[in-house]
Amino acid sequence: MSNREPNKAEGFLQCANCKKIIFSVDFEQNLSVCPYCGHHHRLSASKRIEITFDPGSFRELDQELSSLNPLDFPEYAEKLASAVEKQQTNDSMTSGLAALDGIPVCVAVSDFNFMGGSMGAVNGEKITRTLERAADSGNPAIIFCASGGARMQEGLLSLMQMAKTTAAAQRCSKLGVPYFAVFSDPTMAGVLASYASVADVILAEPKALVGFAGLRVSKQAGVGKVPDDFQTAEFALHHGMIDRVVPRKEMRATLIQLTKMLGGFKTHV
Ligand SMILES: [Zn+2]
Repeated sequence: MSNREPNKAEGFLQCANCKKIIFSVDFEQNLSVCPYCGHHHRLSASKRIEITFDPGSFRELDQELSSLNPLDFPEYAEKLASAVEKQQTNDSMTSGLAALDGIPVCVAVSDFNFMGGSMGAVNGEKITRTLERAADSGNPAIIFCASGGARMQEGLLSLMQMAKTTAAAQRCSKLGVPYFAVFSDPTMAGVLASYASVADVILAEPKALVGFAGLRVSKQAGVGKVPDDFQTAEFALHHGMIDRVVPRKEMRATLIQLTKMLGGFKTHV
């Protein structure tokens, strides 16, 4: 990190955590992690794919899938259309095939910027297809989670994605095909309580929010005083919910190591 003075023409921004000013170019080079306090800012799906997988290896699939408004939920169609236009994608989940140090992997990456990364029917279908492609091919599945939970506007159709995605993960497990999940900020509610928690290896980014009900709801439920690190990746690690907290700059190398160690053991098709 340089110690130059910020210059408006050069572009700079403020850390969401420590509020210090960071040069955009330094922020970019540091993978959107604050060089002062280490805060991991949220990434778009495209940026996550770019910094994780082999350059040019990602091939998107399922992009033709788009959500309907099955319950005719008020304002859902407008919110969806706005998110599609703003994010230039049909859903909060991006899925496809990629490579990690030359090893083929089936991937799905959630983007919190698209309606809070919420899991509706399309999101769940993309996760399911990713896990089924892994089961069919024997190549590891890697899913980056970033979600507030199920998409309430789709009601039960959204909730049933929890069972569907978990069943797909179970199929990988039965076949001996590894499935790795990465919890980024936030990994909550129906996502945490379904496919995210049943991965063979669960990694998380530092300080990522990880939990079922949010802090406010937990307090309303009368849990009393909660620890300072309540519902963080570190808290989840300490309580055995996840396997490792991995800084963003080490994530790609860690996933390569895992695919090399645990890939290639498919028992049967
Ligand atoms: Zn900071």
